[in-house]
Amino acid sequence: MRDTILYFVIPCYNEEAVLPETAKRLYEIYGQLVAGERISPASRILFINDGSSDRTWGLIRELHKKNPVFSGLSLSRNRGHQNALLAGLLYAKDRCDIAISMDADLQDDPEAAGEMIQKYEEGCDVVYGVRSSRKTDTAFKRTTARLFYKMMSMLGVELVSDSADYRLMSRKALVGLSEFKEVNLFLRGIVPMIGYPSDKVYYERAERFAGESKYPLRKMLHFSIEGITSLSVAPIRVITNVGIFVFLISILMLIWGVIQKLRGVTVQGWSSMMVSLWAIGGLILLSIGIVGEYVGKIYLEAKGRPRFLIDETLDEKGYQSPDLAALEKAAADTIRNVYDEGGRK
Ligand code: UDP
Ligand code: MG
Repeated sequence: MRDTILYFVIPCYNEEAVLPETAKRLYEIYGQLVAGERISPASRILFINDGSSDRTWGLIRELHKKNPVFSGLSLSRNRGHQNALLAGLLYAKDRCDIAISMDADLQDDPEAAGEMIQKYEEGCDVVYGVRSSRKTDTAFKRTTARLFYKMMSMLGVELVSDSADYRLMSRKALVGLSEFKEVNLFLRGIVPMIGYPSDKVYYERAERFAGESKYPLRKMLHFSIEGITSLSVAPIRVITNVGIFVFLISILMLIWGVIQKLRGVTVQGWSSMMVSLWAIGGLILLSIGIVGEYVGKIYLEAKGRPRFLIDETLDEKGYQSPDLAALEKAAADTIRNVYDEGGRK
């Protein structure tokens, strides 16, 4: 509908290499959607600068200066993808009817946005972008991702398989999201919990357009541990069950020990004792470690730290002409200017 205000929400961390292209592509989509009277010209392309150390924020500023359709938020420091995304979504919540989040690197095909809006018009509050294949991922990423989704479903966490953070959320869903006050945030697990009618849109995931992945193995591991411990208490149950099992065995061992003693065949058995000592010691340490993980989370939740602080905001009222030819020219100018100034710096 022509008065639906759409916010594209795009977290950017050191994305100077792709940002101009992303801006151009999104501006084209924006132009098409406005011309087709699917969205209001007051819609925005919102970039969230997640404490980048390169020229990312400078580029966002330039874009905004040239054209207020591009707006920006800059976080006080690097807070990670999920927090940057949340900052953008919560910012958009009071200003838009729908928000579409996507990565800055054009891996999520922006063309799928039209189909997402279609589903929204049909009554969905959440539309997940699901990749139809993982061809462009490395074999390693593919396998680890599959393992991750399998493990999460075994632990009783509901996730939409193969959906990254490319999704549409209505204002209603965003308000729902804002009710989740947890500091340890795993958006992919929280969004399905919000409920409301949802649907999926399939798209082909492309290669990163330029620049490098900001998710090295270390961050990926951290991400999955975060996902498990912030959404599921299953690991604690496992510990409890192992504890009960070990305790039952120790009773049997005790009985057996007494019998052996009565038969007068003790003193040997030093090796079995050492083995069990180590095994139990190891188990205890492991258990304490996992329990500690949860205690750490409780500690953070209890402090109620802000999840992000907004440093600066760029967003002015400024309506674009819905005339497509003018939009295209403006887009071309904007991009050219950004490139020019980028080159001079
Ligand atoms: N990102 C971010 N903060 C970070 C790391 C990443 O905002 O600390 C953004 C990044 O700019 C990109 C998105 O999160 O828009 C996904 O990152 P990337 O494409 O590097 O991950 P991959 O696709 O390799 O999993
Ligand atoms: Mg990427």
